[in-house]
Amino acid sequence: MNASAQIGVTGLAVMGRNLARNFARNGYTVAVHNRTYARTQELVDQFGEEGTFVPAASAEEFVAALERPRCLMVMVKAGAPTDAVIEEFAELAEPGDVIIDGGNAHFEDTRRREAALRERGIHFVGTGVSGGEEGALLGPSIMPGGSAESYASLGPMLERIAARAPDGSPCTTHVGPDGAGHFVKMVHNGIEYADMQLIAEAYDLLRRAAGFSPEEIARIFRSWNQGRLDSYLIEITAEVLTHKDADTGKPFVDIVADRAEQKGTGRWTVQTALGLGLPVPGIAEAVFARSLSGHTELRSAAASLPGPGDGEARSGAMSPEEAARFADQVEQSLYASKVISYAQGWDMIRAGSEEYDWDIDLSSVAAIWRAGCIIRAAFLDRIRSAFAGNPGLPTLLADPEFARELGEAQDGWRATVTAAVRHGVPAPGMSGALAYYDGLRADRLPAALTQGQRDYFGAHTYERTDREGTFHTLWAGDR
Ligand code: NAP
Repeated sequence: MNASAQIGVTGLAVMGRNLARNFARNGYTVAVHNRTYARTQELVDQFGEEGTFVPAASAEEFVAALERPRCLMVMVKAGAPTDAVIEEFAELAEPGDVIIDGGNAHFEDTRRREAALRERGIHFVGTGVSGGEEGALLGPSIMPGGSAESYASLGPMLERIAARAPDGSPCTTHVGPDGAGHFVKMVHNGIEYADMQLIAEAYDLLRRAAGFSPEEIARIFRSWNQGRLDSYLIEITAEVLTHKDADTGKPFVDIVADRAEQKGTGRWTVQTALGLGLPVPGIAEAVFARSLSGHTELRSAAASLPGPGDGEARSGAMSPEEAARFADQVEQSLYASKVISYAQGWDMIRAGSEEYDWDIDLSSVAAIWRAGCIIRAAFLDRIRSAFAGNPGLPTLLADPEFARELGEAQDGWRATVTAAVRHGVPAPGMSGALAYYDGLRADRLPAALTQGQRDYFGAHTYERTDREGTFHTLWAGDR
């Protein structure tokens, strides 16, 4: 076979097929391969007109179709299938070739795979791809790790197919070596969990505390989408809230079972944060909220527990003026809590970068999330400039602009959390974000008391505020 393809994609389910089409639409000759050949044939039959595809019936044909150094993208099911397919192609590859895993791999697996292939002279690039099926076709946000050398051949192609930020720059960059790309994609998904949870809490409060209907809430979200909360997730939330179930005519949100599922990237983020000893409560609360929703046995056992106002006349509904004022407070709470979860996400990227020596540019991560990915939002450009202006910023909350906004949002934020508590509407994301904010800004934390307790029962010692050294007190229990 004539080696004419600049890029190859193996694994032609939704993501692989659309990425292959995206490469072809951008003028590349794309070798395509799938374990089951029917998918390859289907792609060429349906979309052959979009560009130049080279269908390969076997792994050998696929590799032979690629120009050297070969760039070969694996888009198969994550886990064992990915390992099997990488090994199959590593056997056929030559030193200098680049094998890219665009699936949702755990960054530790990517580090392992990269190290093993590096020994054989093959570049392995674990890359995050965000934007779902549509993003893969029209322009995703792409987060490649791997060697700088591999980016020299692969990067220009990724830059062509990636989404474009409003300033025209491509939403991809060389994130850092080995597992850096998949790590950053994992944190992206963790932030996505937190964002979705906060939006869900805003909806719940507007509905249950203020009495707005789903359609009214959709209108509120649309108005928020014109301001600082402008984002893909807010936009689609308004769409979901407007949607009516075709069978019953009821709001779609009322006929969906209220058990949120998860594929695991949020959980990975929290597990990794625990390993790094880093507080990311915004992401953790979101993962736990999904988990709580799915525990129907616990929920039904607790369903009859009393809530506020039960057994006595409930206080009346909010007046239209009160409800409108409350909606403004919820906007402030949502925005402030969102800033907090993004701050935690960036803390995590910095911690990962230091732990694994990746030298990740915090500003460029915000830059490549401005378009294409699920958390794309206008305010990512502000995060980009915050870290561009001060790469050593210890936390996003220390940026003067964000600090000012949090201060201004504070009253509405506190009022929202108070209302949630008063009405018995769970808002773990918003209240946790507020606790994090108050925890960080506190002059003194009760951790001093915790240290006292630890020293009392375990002689764990403590440090003092007024002099250097490590101390232990002879407690009553020691005598
Ligand atoms: P998928 O359903 O995760 O996987 C299906 C593909 O994997 C098919 O091409 C299948 O081939 C192939 N496959 C499965 N086991 C295999 C094996 N043992 N050997 C060879 N091929 C095997 O597909 P997807 O949804 O397109 O996702 C692909 C990757 O992208 C996954 O890692 C996913 O986590 C990641 N991802 C998905 C999304 C999304 O929105 N779906 C977004 C970002 C990233 P056959 O046709 O022969 O069965």
